[in-house]
Amino acid sequence: MHLDLERVLHNVRAADTEDLLDRATVYRNGMEPAALDLIESELANRGVTQEHLQQYFEMRRQEVLFFPDGTAMMCSRCRRPAVTCEWQWHRLFGLVPIFPQRVRLCQIHRTPTTDAGME
Ligand SMILES: [Zn+2]
Repeated sequence: MHLDLERVLHNVRAADTEDLLDRATVYRNGMEPAALDLIESELANRGVTQEHLQQYFEMRRQEVLFFPDGTAMMCSRCRRPAVTCEWQWHRLFGLVPIFPQRVRLCQIHRTPTTDAGME
């Protein structure tokens, strides 16, 4: 597979630190080694230590859904790792319910549970 490092570098510089942390930890199995190098050096430039990276991985590992090969499942709405699977109506033009589908959702996009009134 051809990897356009110039493009990856541009993308990495523009990415959120959280996004980069996810790529360097739960998504690392699916990453090109060269891209991973760029991500890790960008994180180091932002002051993220190996120790911090390890802690982040431990935290994510508790909550994220993984495929059997160890790669994290991605949210259906964004690039964050999914923490739950839910049945939702697939809606035509975002309005008309057509059929229920199983979607994977991250912390931000999951349906809030009633006991989550701590925030
Ligand atoms: Zn999401």
